[in-house]
Amino acid sequence: MSGAPRGLPEPPAPGRAALPPGTFDGEVVLVTGGGTGLGRAISVEFARLGAAVGIVSRRAEHREAGVAAVREVGARAAEAACDIRDPDAVAGAFDRIERELGPVSVLVNNAAGNFPVPAEDLSPGGWRAVVEIVLHGTFFCSRELGRRLIGSGRNGSILNIGASYAWTGGPGFVHSAAAKAGVLSLTRTLAVEWAPYGIRVNALVPGLFPHEDETADIRSVPGRGASDEEASAPALRTGRLRELGWAATYLASPFAAYVTGHTMVVDGANWQRRALRQPAFVPVREQLGRGPFGSEEGGR
Ligand code: NAP
Repeated sequence: MSGAPRGLPEPPAPGRAALPPGTFDGEVVLVTGGGTGLGRAISVEFARLGAAVGIVSRRAEHREAGVAAVREVGARAAEAACDIRDPDAVAGAFDRIERELGPVSVLVNNAAGNFPVPAEDLSPGGWRAVVEIVLHGTFFCSRELGRRLIGSGRNGSILNIGASYAWTGGPGFVHSAAAKAGVLSLTRTLAVEWAPYGIRVNALVPGLFPHEDETADIRSVPGRGASDEEASAPALRTGRLRELGWAATYLASPFAAYVTGHTMVVDGANWQRRALRQPAFVPVREQLGRGPFGSEEGGR
């Protein structure tokens, strides 16, 4: 029936490219957390367009999965073990990727840590872990590439993966929301500082992109799961991973040569949604199924 809600249309089929073949020929792209979920999908899209891809993260099995996915589409890949919270380890990872693939010109700051928790239960260690991975790690990797590009007079591009609760606040995710807000600020600052050196810095904010690598913590968040997410989003569907790949490759490509300091949201307008009448408010503790404050031992 025409006029019935049907949501946003499906994007073009998997395997299609938004940019001309060979757009990233000869370029080396380093993706943090590029072995799982969104990072792997983004890595593969760069690979399809001719890039060699370096996968950087802590766990060997994750990195191997990323390398295999990139090689499967016929591109060169390398991997380096690294905890991005450690700036020396970040420098070492860049060295290793550059030894194997050549100088890096594109960095995708995708790695993140996250888990749902009421703020009053969050331990200092849990706060530090998330903020250090998301905010410090993004800065350390950006600084590393920035110094290499500025020092060698080469152009480049950085893409930071954000989250819309950077703007709205993120009840149940105080650590990640605060860190992502910092990442968006970093994006704007570095875009201005480094434009004179031919380096662009943009951000990409994904909406609901369920994937098979989600941690048990994230899967347990109320409202996660394909059918709940599809019903709750104005688009009446979740995002398809290839939609992020197309957006990421565009922002890092020469076709976006004058786009910097920009944050692109790929979420089907989900973050702007408001209902005419809000549903009854449920405190975060209750949404997460926690007992009264103090009834459980310890925090995380
Ligand atoms: P994910 O599957 O949990 O992947 C996180 C990746 O980061 C893993 O590959 C992990 O690899 C790596 N990582 C974590 N800590 C690290 C560290 N200290 N050093 C180096 N690497 C580290 O996450 P995702 O769902 O694909 O999300 C990817 C990005 O999109 C994140 O920035 C996230 O905030 C953002 N995002 C996702 C969604 C969504 O719907 N999924 C929505 C909004 C925003 P190791 O374990 O091997 O280190």
